[in-house]
Amino acid sequence: MTKRLSFLIFLFLAITTTSAAQSTIPSPKSVLGFNPGDDRTVAGWSQITDYFERLDRASDRVLVQTLGQSTLKRPLIVAFISARENILALPKYKEIQQQLADPRKLTQNLQHDRLLANGKVVVAISCSIHSTEIVASQMSMQLAYELATAQDADTREILQNTILLLIPSPNPDGIDIVANWYRKTLGTPYEGKEPPELYHHYAGHDDNRDWFMLNLKETQLITRLLWHDWFPQIVYDVHQQGSNGSRFFIPPFYDPPNPNISPLLLRQVGLIGHKVAADLQAAGFKGVLTNALYDTWWHGGFRTAPYFHNSIGILSEAASARLMSAATVTTEQLARSSTRGMRNATESSTNFPDPWAAGQWRPRDIMAMEMISARSILEMAAKFRVEYLRNFYELGRANVEGNKVDPEAYLIPAGQGRDEAVAKLVGSLVDQGVEVYRLDRELHAILATPILRRTNPVAEKLGSYRRLANLTSSQMHEVPLGSYIIFLAQPQRTNVLALFEPQIYPNRLTGQGEAERPYDVAGWTLPLQMGVEAPVVMAIREPAGERKLTLLKDANDVRADLALALKKGDESPIKNPVKQPVRVGIYKGWTGNMDEGWTRYIFDTFNVPYTSVHDADMRQGALSSKFDALIFTSQSATQIINGNGVGTLPQEYTGGITEAGVKNLKGFVNNGGMLICFDNACDMAIKEFNLPLKNTLEGVRSSEFYCPGSIVALDVDNKHPIASTLPSSVPAYFINSSAYTAASDANVRVIARYAKDNVLLSGWLLGEDKLSGQIALAEVSVGKGRIVLFGFRPQHRGQAWATLPFIWNALSTAANNTSEE
Ligand SMILES: [Zn+2]
Repeated sequence: MTKRLSFLIFLFLAITTTSAAQSTIPSPKSVLGFNPGDDRTVAGWSQITDYFERLDRASDRVLVQTLGQSTLKRPLIVAFISARENILALPKYKEIQQQLADPRKLTQNLQHDRLLANGKVVVAISCSIHSTEIVASQMSMQLAYELATAQDADTREILQNTILLLIPSPNPDGIDIVANWYRKTLGTPYEGKEPPELYHHYAGHDDNRDWFMLNLKETQLITRLLWHDWFPQIVYDVHQQGSNGSRFFIPPFYDPPNPNISPLLLRQVGLIGHKVAADLQAAGFKGVLTNALYDTWWHGGFRTAPYFHNSIGILSEAASARLMSAATVTTEQLARSSTRGMRNATESSTNFPDPWAAGQWRPRDIMAMEMISARSILEMAAKFRVEYLRNFYELGRANVEGNKVDPEAYLIPAGQGRDEAVAKLVGSLVDQGVEVYRLDRELHAILATPILRRTNPVAEKLGSYRRLANLTSSQMHEVPLGSYIIFLAQPQRTNVLALFEPQIYPNRLTGQGEAERPYDVAGWTLPLQMGVEAPVVMAIREPAGERKLTLLKDANDVRADLALALKKGDESPIKNPVKQPVRVGIYKGWTGNMDEGWTRYIFDTFNVPYTSVHDADMRQGALSSKFDALIFTSQSATQIINGNGVGTLPQEYTGGITEAGVKNLKGFVNNGGMLICFDNACDMAIKEFNLPLKNTLEGVRSSEFYCPGSIVALDVDNKHPIASTLPSSVPAYFINSSAYTAASDANVRVIARYAKDNVLLSGWLLGEDKLSGQIALAEVSVGKGRIVLFGFRPQHRGQAWATLPFIWNALSTAANNTSEE
């Protein structure tokens, strides 16, 4: 719509409508029959979208848009909430945001001043990405209603100066999984328990670990909304934590900070967090905690991705009730609850000045705190409008201008093979708004590869971890046309660095000398995880005018370049890499195992057929007649065999594969079947099949060995068929994983070992000697069949594409080995 047209429409509406419409705006209660947050009530996804549709029709402050469909085909919506005149001029404000986000689009200072004078602070609030943290999704309706109807001066200021993008949930499927389960168990002994399945079809809780990889439809749709279209200055992600600790966490965060996050952003995060904490205190709420547990090191969360788009990411974590039922918390439980930055939840400290006394804890309490928090953030945004816009613009400008420390670019050279992985990597970058250029003419460049070494303990203490990776630079290289180049001189400089550099997590120990657990993973370097070569570009010989480069528009551009099939709609264009037809079963228990979900994601993405195998199928047997290969994803032996305890859930969800299932599994392997185990599941195979292997890391204290979510190097024997398509050195994902020694035995064939030298590639590794040289991947013959043991996570979070070929190769050798039982 042109500006003139929208202005005319605005004029027309201003004349013909009055605010009398306010009285006809439906309250959530009038539509749902209860107030959101009432004990033992829950609105499912169709009720939530229905309410927002009604609000859209009734209020000129609200505009609801459908972004697309979720994984299981539910509508994913966003509500724009602002003053009527702003809602009418949304295209204009979107354009202002896009200009502020990329200072190169502005040519004169005058233009910059005009944008700051006219722009609105865009705030995104997202509720219940974790579906069992259900209260915020209910709260979203009340928040929208109050903003749509309130007439007080403070609300008017918020509406005038900000545009709220309210996402009732970025995981609609999960809202229904939890709401249906809650209704089904209401009034039974299982009321308030969590459902025995993943609340995202593939990812479960890891749906909030996908914000740079963009595997999931939900992350793709919202990433487009946030980082292609609207560029919010503030993103608020509303979560819940366990029941027994603080009542509410709000930033500042705990250490360590990610060194690629601008210090200005960390300060702004802290400022908003303290405003929320103060407002909660003023309203009489107790138990608010800051500076604890949650850190900004990891990348890939809803509230961490904004830092790499020059935006402020805020997290809140309210204590949970029992879904929508009240919980009772005792003083003893509070006293036992301790975490980084909080000795226990009964003791006051500067970052936790007013502990909550034990008692009943209701959904209503959670909702009240979340409402105050949301309101508090909007007030800040409204009152400091120009400051937020200016800081956002200035961070983008600094990223474009650069500094003397950073290299010029990262390169993805053409002709390295693994075209699907290159297409996925480049596609993910483009989809999150990173600028990637294709070389249409050769260039000459000095290239370097970062080698991760901890050589400077003083610098580590000072926090300058990032530059500890030594660059081994070499001669001028000819870079072939068809290569991709990612310049650091772009608004997302810090994102490029955070995704391409090796992470060097600082050695952080507790007073007892144990490893201090990071909040999430320590390393994630994307080209390493994906097995894509991506050297640093130190300098380019050709001046800018002599280069021939094309900016990629979307993920299909790179697929077209590499002559791969294009992605149409939902369809995954990747051709099944398994060479022969093979009947694959993937074990799926009732314990909601994310590793199982991601495995299904990878199989669906690569169009490899499989069947989910449930506990009952395992107990029933006749496995050889149905499958050539069975995969057990990372899960403890106890969980696999015993499942959920009797009495903890309705009977159909309790008990694992049981001894009967183990017996059937033995029959399957002895009969010629292939059993593939990932990480923890190997323990079950080793014990039950009495294999001559031992996990050398079992029971080792974290003062001796610790490696949380890091990338390590494997030395690969590519003479073995399972490694035949892989290079001799492969990066693998290790997350408190396993390493083996084997007794000398003709039945054991080692396929890969953790590298002898420089085993850590990205992240954190304490006690390198415990890992180096140990077995990472082995094949063991049992009867007529084989067992393949992965010590690491070959498909971790759908990101570890470097090690996927091991799985496809194993399956390619599994076909037609089984005979009928
Ligand atoms: Zn959460």
